[in-house]
Amino acid sequence: MTDCPIICPVCGYPLQFAEKNAFCKNGHSFDRSKEGSVNLILNGSAGAGDGAEMASARKRFLAKGHYSHLLCGLKDTLKESVHPHFTVIDACCGEGYFTNALQQEFSEASFYGFDLSKRALRYAAKDSRKALFFVANISSVPVKDGSADILLHIFAPVNEREFLRILAPDGVFIHVFPGKDHLMGIKRILYGEPRQNDENSGLSDAFEIISSKKISKKVTLDNASLCDLISMTPYFYRTPKDRIEKAMRLPCAETETEFIVDICKKRESGEG
Ligand SMILES: [Zn+2]
Repeated sequence: MTDCPIICPVCGYPLQFAEKNAFCKNGHSFDRSKEGSVNLILNGSAGAGDGAEMASARKRFLAKGHYSHLLCGLKDTLKESVHPHFTVIDACCGEGYFTNALQQEFSEASFYGFDLSKRALRYAAKDSRKALFFVANISSVPVKDGSADILLHIFAPVNEREFLRILAPDGVFIHVFPGKDHLMGIKRILYGEPRQNDENSGLSDAFEIISSKKISKKVTLDNASLCDLISMTPYFYRTPKDRIEKAMRLPCAETETEFIVDICKKRESGEG
């Protein structure tokens, strides 16, 4: 059993988890939700992040297995990198679909997921058998320096300073971001002639990309899944309402899904 990598956001000492709260030796205490997640945001900004509708749409969409090919790809990737007793941190884990499924597959490792959205983490914690979930902001992650053997990050902005800090010296950073044709079928419906995504990971050379693979699949969505998918993407807010409504009346749709999975390590700085 490895030590808990989660630290008190007030004093930085390790947290211990009890049934109803998490606490440090200096007496700082943080309530756990009834599902079990713990809120480690100090200044009242909790409740930010993805809202209830977006979280429930994504929960339903992922539960139907539309991205199960990405999950399979991640299992293969982790098979090569994970060891028993490893600490795996899922940054911006949302509803914990990937965190919980991977924890189940690699049951001897310890998985921790965080996200800014309390709502999303309630789903994550409810579905959890072992993984621990905490509300935190990516700009200041309450995790011990160098404690993540594997840092998993799927479809969210990167905070390099924090990621470099929490990643173990030999740690592996698994960075997942959309490929050029990801959701092109949906974009065609909404925009006619959409642009492809940029396939640049956006990482600085503080990270070295060890390997990169693309996972693609065309998926067919019924009306319910189409509506959920549109509701869980930024298109929902960026697209004129009449186009969204028209798209949501379609009985079904087909779209490419395309994920790039980069395996990265910290580049050796030569400073020792
Ligand atoms: Zn403390």
